[in-house]
Amino acid sequence: MASCILTIALDTPLTSCFDYRWQHGPEAPPRVGQLAQVPFGRRDVVGLIVGVGQHTDVPADKLKDALAVRGQLAPLSPQWLALVAFAADYYQRPLGEVALPGLPKNLRVLTTVALDRAIQKLAKADFGHDATPRDMPELNPAQQEAADAIGGALGFTPLLLYGVTGSGKTEVYLQACAQVLARDAGAQILVLVPEINLTPQLEGNIRARFPGVMLATLHSSLSEGERMLHWLGAHEGRARIILGTRLAILASLPNLKLIVIDEEHDPSYKQQEGLRYSARDLAVWRARQLGIPIVLGSATPSLESWHHAGSGRYRKLELRERAVRDAVLPRVKLLDMEKDRPKDGLTAALVAALRQRLERGEQSLLFLNRRGYAPVICCEACGWISNCTRCTSFMVLHKPEHRLRCHHCSLELRIPRACPDCGNVDLQPLGRGTQRVEEGLQALFPEARILRIDADSTRRKGSAQEAFDSVHRGEVDILIGTQMVAKGHDFKKLTLVGILNPDTALFSQDYRASERLFAQLMQVAGRAGRAARAEGGSVSEVLVQSRYVAHPLYSAVVSHDYDRFATSLLEERRQAALPPYLYQALLRAEAPELALAIEFLENARDCIGHEGITVNDPIPMTMTRVHNVDRAQLLVECPSRPALQAFLKEWLAAIRQMKSRVKWSLEVDPLDI
Ligand code: ADP
Ligand code: ZN
Ligand code: ZN
Repeated sequence: MASCILTIALDTPLTSCFDYRWQHGPEAPPRVGQLAQVPFGRRDVVGLIVGVGQHTDVPADKLKDALAVRGQLAPLSPQWLALVAFAADYYQRPLGEVALPGLPKNLRVLTTVALDRAIQKLAKADFGHDATPRDMPELNPAQQEAADAIGGALGFTPLLLYGVTGSGKTEVYLQACAQVLARDAGAQILVLVPEINLTPQLEGNIRARFPGVMLATLHSSLSEGERMLHWLGAHEGRARIILGTRLAILASLPNLKLIVIDEEHDPSYKQQEGLRYSARDLAVWRARQLGIPIVLGSATPSLESWHHAGSGRYRKLELRERAVRDAVLPRVKLLDMEKDRPKDGLTAALVAALRQRLERGEQSLLFLNRRGYAPVICCEACGWISNCTRCTSFMVLHKPEHRLRCHHCSLELRIPRACPDCGNVDLQPLGRGTQRVEEGLQALFPEARILRIDADSTRRKGSAQEAFDSVHRGEVDILIGTQMVAKGHDFKKLTLVGILNPDTALFSQDYRASERLFAQLMQVAGRAGRAARAEGGSVSEVLVQSRYVAHPLYSAVVSHDYDRFATSLLEERRQAALPPYLYQALLRAEAPELALAIEFLENARDCIGHEGITVNDPIPMTMTRVHNVDRAQLLVECPSRPALQAFLKEWLAAIRQMKSRVKWSLEVDPLDI
């Protein structure tokens, strides 16, 4: 019997690598990158082998034996291990916490026998070879140039595909993919989209285009069985195109040759809990590590990417016009709500435009980024308002569900019959969400087919897809929705977009708010006028209702001038020393009382020296209390990324030494401050 020492990463906080003994016969010892089952505390858990050797500092009587090694699974590659090691190091998390949760649960819990059966199923699995091939449309010259630049790129090449909405970016990706697959029979391509609801549209396009090619999808609504099959398809190199949301960036892809990030500016690429990674940033790292091209596509690139394109680090490819012949960008108009006072949330001009579309049999989209019926209800007699008892927020009125709901802690109450304070029975909704707009529209246009799409109307699995399909089939006259409808969808029959109440974001404290608002308005505006205009038909319209029509952000939206807007925002950021000219990290603390959270952060601020690093004073978070917990934060800034990284390592070690009972977490490159 020979034996060796396995160093195994487990999904545990703080330290995550532990040594175990492995006794083996004449066969070779296990390999780094394999999974092993080991005893941990009172449980058996699966971990990742990150080292195989002969020595350990663990005393012999304390050393435990590993129970099994999952030999039937090909080891995870050194490149994949380097990726998770980088992510763990950069985001300051233990390795196991990064490496293991991304693996399918079935790999981590199934016994060896059951795993065999899974793996056999994969051999028979068919990821859609049944689609009928569809012809490639002929690319216009700008698209062709972009597709050739991507498809022909060798070595690490970051490309920013800056193309107006409807300019045919998808077609560019597909033809670039075709070039890569034609050149390399085993190549794998990773395509990321920001939103799960955009996967079916793109999946359909990919299947139609590449009928013989195995496509794997990776996103959060797969069943465990599906996730396992698709993950293994990718890991074994059989899936050639891998389409997914942000979590797919951590997939094992042994022959990755191209990465595509669609709508790269989208904040959903940032994971907002646990390992708070940016899938876009990790994708760029991964492309550099493997020496492959990466395309970042957007009509409104993030200022980070815009900055890199400006400095020449990314190559910029531009599509200035819509791809479909005779489809032109919509005309954007501002509707002054001070002059044209809205009734039921709609100005007279917007109502007239809706009526005109109904008469012509064309579709309209109303965008309001607020779900529910009204954000709050109040008693006009005594001033009571529906505050959440657990959060610094209101209970939102959900009229069809007869409920008040807190969107932050999920507290639900029946709508009170009378004011809890004074007994007044006449409680009033204040403000307007999608449900209330839907109700107003139904009264205004009883003959119209109106559909609301938001998180409430699409709770049931598959219902979002059904809703989008019915819009595509032309069964809807007026679509009302939140940001769920704003992104990426190729609605062909839509000629009017109404934006109901974008003003609140103009005055946000968050310096990223205007960048986001601009992107969001351009995205939703971009849903209009995507098909060829009918003979003699008019240009489609985007109507923005606002009280601040003179605001420069809106002028930029009217002229579709992202270029100038982004360049001036970047200049402001440079002058104010904000990202991307500065690197940040945010330490957050949670406690039953705010004072405890602040005290912890003050202690953290003072626990080591910080020359060259700006460590700001702790402040309560804007929404201070959520689910009976008070939250505060402390911002750390530095113009040098390596200097910030070095500081964070030392600092976290010192904070851990404090052994505070306050719950805390660190976020590197935070998006919401
Ligand atoms: P984007 O992602 O840039 O907003 P899409 O890729 O959705 O745009 O393309 C918009 C529309 O243009 C789609 O209906 C697509 O089929 C069509 N399209 C793209 N390229 C061409 C082309 N070269 N010729 C004709 N139609 C095209
Ligand atoms: Zn009252
Ligand atoms: Zn709440």
